[in-house]
Amino acid sequence: MAFKKIIDGAYLVPMGNANAVLLDAEGDLVLIDAGFPGKADLVLHAMSKLGHKPSDLKHLVFTHGHPDHIGSAAALVQATGARTYMHAADVQLAESGGPFRPMTPGRGLLPSILFRLVWKPDERMEPFRIDQHIADGETLPLAGGLRAVHLPGHCAGQVGFLWQGQRLLIAGDVFMNNLGLDDPVGFEDEAEGRHSQRKLASLAPQAVCFGHGRAITKDTIARLERAVARR
Ligand SMILES: [Zn+2]
Ligand SMILES: [Zn+2]
Repeated sequence: MAFKKIIDGAYLVPMGNANAVLLDAEGDLVLIDAGFPGKADLVLHAMSKLGHKPSDLKHLVFTHGHPDHIGSAAALVQATGARTYMHAADVQLAESGGPFRPMTPGRGLLPSILFRLVWKPDERMEPFRIDQHIADGETLPLAGGLRAVHLPGHCAGQVGFLWQGQRLLIAGDVFMNNLGLDDPVGFEDEAEGRHSQRKLASLAPQAVCFGHGRAITKDTIARLERAVARR
């Protein structure tokens, strides 16, 4: 599947059943997350379609340190020279390449199926260095402003990013949106994960996208509130 515009300046890049997000705005090119292994070319292709060469990617930011979000990171850093950013609680995952912390499955059919099929905590990824640690509430001065909001539960170091005020929330795996808003595949700490789901709705973004499934650009707050109320 080809990459796809979410809103002006923001693109969803499918990287093997996991999304990366490319922001192309205010003179900055920023990639958020790096998909499964072997998918770096999909990002480079999307960049070239947008008129950029590999070295134009200066910033590679992560929602969290799971295998499906860091798999092609080492290859992309090598191809672009991008600076890397991740919440301190997950830095060790990236820099060791695994193993990953255990989770219990999310509620519902799809999370439980994916938990059995896809989640392999003993998997190893190619390790890479994190250049800058992200803290809760910090605004990275990239592409017109990326405010980090700590959203732990699925993963201790998970952060969402509010881009340019509330235009777009890049929400990692707080929910997934393959067949409607579902739980993520699993939780390291379910109570924290529920708290983060409520917090997500309270951020009142105009649009939201996730690590898995489709972006939401219409009726966003109401849809998030309904998903929270069901839990
Ligand atoms: Zn994850
Ligand atoms: Zn994921």
